[in-house]
Amino acid sequence: MYYSSGNYEAFARPKKPEGVDNKSAYIVGSGLAALTAACYLVRDGQMKGERVHILEKGPTAGGACDGWKFENIGYVMRGGREMDNHFEVMWDLFHSIPSIETEGVSVLDEYYWLNKADPNYSLCRATEKRGQDVHTDGRFDLSDKGAMEIMKLFFTPNEDLQDKRITDFFDDEVFNSNFWLYWRTMFAFENWHSALEMKLYIQRYIHHIGGLPDFTALRFTKYNQYESMILPMVKYLEGFGVQFHFGVQVTNVEFDCTPGRKVAKRIDIIENGEKGGIDLTENDLVFITNGGCVENSSMGSQNTPAPYNTEIKEGGGWDMWRKIAAQDPAFGHPDKFCYDPEQTNWMSATVETLDQRIIPYITSICKRDPFSGKVVTGGIVTVKDSSWLMSWTINRQPQFRSQPKDHCLVWVYSLFTDKPGDFVKKPMRECTGKEICMEWLYHLGVPVEQIEDMAENSANTVPVMMPYIDAFFMPRAYGDRPKVVPDGAVNFAFLGQFAETPRDTIFTTEYSMRTGMEAVYTLLNVDRGVPEVWGSVYDVRDLLDATVKLRDGKKPIDMELNLVEKMALKKVLGKIEGTDIEKLLKEYHII
Ligand SMILES: Cc1cc2nc3c(=O)[nH]c(=O)nc-3n(C[C@H](O)[C@H](O)[C@H](O)COP(=O)(O)OP(=O)(O)OC[C@H]3O[C@@H](n4cnc5c(N)ncnc54)[C@H](O)[C@@H]3O)c2cc1C
Repeated sequence: MYYSSGNYEAFARPKKPEGVDNKSAYIVGSGLAALTAACYLVRDGQMKGERVHILEKGPTAGGACDGWKFENIGYVMRGGREMDNHFEVMWDLFHSIPSIETEGVSVLDEYYWLNKADPNYSLCRATEKRGQDVHTDGRFDLSDKGAMEIMKLFFTPNEDLQDKRITDFFDDEVFNSNFWLYWRTMFAFENWHSALEMKLYIQRYIHHIGGLPDFTALRFTKYNQYESMILPMVKYLEGFGVQFHFGVQVTNVEFDCTPGRKVAKRIDIIENGEKGGIDLTENDLVFITNGGCVENSSMGSQNTPAPYNTEIKEGGGWDMWRKIAAQDPAFGHPDKFCYDPEQTNWMSATVETLDQRIIPYITSICKRDPFSGKVVTGGIVTVKDSSWLMSWTINRQPQFRSQPKDHCLVWVYSLFTDKPGDFVKKPMRECTGKEICMEWLYHLGVPVEQIEDMAENSANTVPVMMPYIDAFFMPRAYGDRPKVVPDGAVNFAFLGQFAETPRDTIFTTEYSMRTGMEAVYTLLNVDRGVPEVWGSVYDVRDLLDATVKLRDGKKPIDMELNLVEKMALKKVLGKIEGTDIEKLLKEYHII
């Protein structure tokens, strides 16, 4: 497996890998990573579909990428995906996956046309005092000291960031800025999370710094991601005859590990309550989604809270990974990520409006008609003075093809689930859907005497608790996540958010998909480049642009300098006078 960039490799088709007709694949999980692996097995590996087996403990495909209407409970989207134009693996794959809505076009075509015609941007990024615009107005509001703290992290080598927390690098100069308000709510970081991942994020999205405050950086699918992404992939795979096995819990994968050679020998399963197994030869390739951000997630309803259930049980992603990890040091350390759900949980809720009473309060904040079919909030609106640190968003309506035309679906989420609310004096994790809706309506500015009635009769709200949703952000060190294909692995690979691939950032659809592509390309020796993580961090134009935008347009040379620094700067400027370097620095407003 090697990385590449550019059109030569992007449009090339690999030859059929040697020996593939004798191989089979067993894929644990049916999330984006697993489905991507299956797609590359059949598309580029040219493996026969009927030789590809997907083993999923749940009743449907998609994993974290969900979107359901539950009978007598309501619509549920555990998450909504902010996405990027430079999700290189995603677009490499989705240009081949036919749309399920429009004949003759791909999922990429659909997404590209939609986001061109209706680009995303926000007209109100944050509110306070019950629905008043904070007027962050695109500013990061970082002090020079805060900007330097970010720069320092940016330039710190990865090896010095092992097991470090964000609080080891940032103090209130960053934490009290708009930058941090945007950042932690947009990406769901907490102050105690991994400094390494924070750095990787800044580097990965350096080209988007200017588009973060108003979300011009973002793109969205038309419907929820189950309907817009998972269903087309499943249909594509079914067309090849790929075998889906639902209700199969993988309890362990057994390995034979000798120095320099590791072979997967057996998959242990529970199906219909019965223990069983699949014996493997070296021609049987195993792809394992280990861990899981939505493991133990639970749903409440309008009148019941979502239980906070953190117990790790046999047959789930964490317990399976623990059993695998116990067999070889190269298989990682799951407990670094799942040992303390108090540091990794947060909650979301899906609010369905049932009549028009709530709509004017929404419109007055986002300044758009939720029923136009176009961008509504254009990304999350953060309630800056919310004790739960609540944010909410309305994507293009309808979010579900089955959704009534005059109902609006709102996604609400909060990072602090253990703090009492501002109107409902309870922690979010103890609240019913109705109570969560009440807290949200309070922050929208609905008159207090109408709040309860509206939450009860004008909306249906379903809460979801996700104890391990931020597990991948826990401070980590080299070796805590197994490599996608560990050294010496003969017939197996790891997939998803807890497999290690360099440079890309977790909690993204792209990360999961990338691991799927890299795993297949490595194990089958597919002879074509895997698109590298977008290289903006190596592009001097993006770096210069970000330096100025992070400081709200202020030139870096206007930073406070002492006399010696001022003299040194003057000397450097003199040296570059009349050169292309000077031209470039002027073009990007550095000088
Ligand atoms: C709330 C939320 C918000 C998000 N926001 C964004 C965003 O804004 N932008 C973005 O790009 N990405 C976002 N993501 C991330 C993205 O959705 C995920 O990274 C991705 O969907 C994970 O896919 P995966 O295949 O790696 O893992 P998963 O989707 O977790 O799939 C793992 C699958 O394996 C199955 N499984 C686990 N263990 C076993 C076992 N022992 N036996 C059998 N089956 C098993 C599980 O049931 C599951 O189906 C978000 C995710 C969530 C949940």
